[in-house]
Amino acid sequence: AEGAGGAPESDALRVLRRVFGYDAFRGRQGEVIEHVTRGGDAVVLMPTGGGKSLCYQIPSLVRSGTGVVISPLIALMQDQVDALRALGVRAGFINSTLDFEERRVMEAEFLAGELDLLYLAPERLRLEATTALLERGKISLFAIDEAHCVAQWGHDFRPDYLSLSLLRERWPDVPRVALTATATRATHREITERLGLTEARDFVASFDRPNIQYRIVPKRDPKKQLLRFLKDEHEGDAGIVYCLSRNSVERTAEFLCRNGVEAVPYHAGLDAGTRAAHQSRFLREEGLVVVATIAFGMGIDKPDVRFVAHLDLPKSVEGYYQETGRAGRDGLPSTAWLAYGLQDVVQQRKLIEGGEGDAAFQRRARAHLDAMLSLCETVSCRRGQLLAYFGQAPEEGAAETACGNCDTCLTPPESWDGTVPAQKVLSTVVRLKNERGQKFGSGQIVDILLGRRSAKVIQFDHDALKVFGIGSELGEAEWRGVVRQLLAQDLLEIEGEHGTLVLTEASADVLRGEREVHMRKDPAPVAKPSGSATG
Ligand code: ADP
Ligand code: ZN
Repeated sequence: AEGAGGAPESDALRVLRRVFGYDAFRGRQGEVIEHVTRGGDAVVLMPTGGGKSLCYQIPSLVRSGTGVVISPLIALMQDQVDALRALGVRAGFINSTLDFEERRVMEAEFLAGELDLLYLAPERLRLEATTALLERGKISLFAIDEAHCVAQWGHDFRPDYLSLSLLRERWPDVPRVALTATATRATHREITERLGLTEARDFVASFDRPNIQYRIVPKRDPKKQLLRFLKDEHEGDAGIVYCLSRNSVERTAEFLCRNGVEAVPYHAGLDAGTRAAHQSRFLREEGLVVVATIAFGMGIDKPDVRFVAHLDLPKSVEGYYQETGRAGRDGLPSTAWLAYGLQDVVQQRKLIEGGEGDAAFQRRARAHLDAMLSLCETVSCRRGQLLAYFGQAPEEGAAETACGNCDTCLTPPESWDGTVPAQKVLSTVVRLKNERGQKFGSGQIVDILLGRRSAKVIQFDHDALKVFGIGSELGEAEWRGVVRQLLAQDLLEIEGEHGTLVLTEASADVLRGEREVHMRKDPAPVAKPSGSATG
């Protein structure tokens, strides 16, 4: 066949145009497809929306046999397969949602060589019946989608992904391609090692999303702040608002509706019909806002999402990046807006400590949270920090370059010498620890600093402490800001299910006056800060 310019058109390009209806490959798609089509193994790190699917779909169509796609997203398989079939691609899936007869038909199609693509959940591979089935058919390639699950999941899921490492032994001649939108160096290494892909070629796309403007603001009255943001900048736009709990999803959606923003809730507690209806309205309509837990968004491919707002702190930078990445897939200007406060950090630490994970899991969760925290408190370019997190630091020598499209670049935050306030907070933590071994959280610390005789202050005689009332120079919001930044700078830590504040190794230097603490000045609130100190 001949391409438009008269040059010979490759099989891959022909499939791209005739089957998928696109003109050209995007980013590194072309290279990946060529490599895999020739039988090479590949590890593909590409941001969400980057076009990973074609990287295995096209080689599956060009090579003979069936491309076997291993994906943990069972809920999306039906949609993916339907979409492919609508394009004339012979696709199918086998998972727990199929009944016996449906599965039998699917297996027969596979064995008859009538499938270009077959989607499977990873746990299927553990079954001898599945591997036996696969051995009787002809496989063109294995694609391991969402490959970061290999690294992220705890012990329970290991066996599923361990069976993936056996693919090479059983099918040494079948190329394998692992794909993920999570690209920290650690994850990359784990994928490569656990899947036995050390010989594979790596294709690492840039994770920068230049059209997304990143903004992180201190949380004061989150619903009102959100409304202001929507009214000022995204009136009538489609967008996603993420909240941590189902309850706050419901309340936020109601609040927006009451205030003239068309919004619907989405969380796992709603029945499947409502969820599907809200999701399809979001996809179809132009200006709908979905207020959701992170259950929403996996596999949602809507190009004109103009903003993603977070009312609670994401658990990790990866999560933040994935969620915000749902904005602006069409390349037009979009906003990622996050409101976060001390309470978010406290709450998440409590969840981690009170959770079921083993020590290693907890350690990892804490490290994820710390990284997220330091992104929130950074005084330098957010984008720079985000990319650096994914191992994509700006070019050599350009480390100081500002992106010009994030809040810290647009309005560089002022910093201030917070050494004395830091010492006051740390001293209070020390005092409280000595008090009969009792331990307290940030609320008590702030009350003591401000000299407030709250019930709990009186109950523990904390108004008799030397530090009682020594913090009148700052208001409540500022003190909470100080605690937040001490956490971000690893000068304070949260421990246990009750959110107890404790010192770190580095705290001593500050207490001894051997280390200065520089803090980021929170932008002035719209309303005057309440609660200047009394007592
Ligand atoms: P990912 O899996 O990396 O998140 P997808 O494979 O779902 O991304 O692709 C995201 C969107 O981009 C889809 O709508 C897809 O059809 C579209 N797309 C992918 N490749 C191309 C291309 N070469 N040209 C135009 N659109 C593309
Ligand atoms: Zn920037």
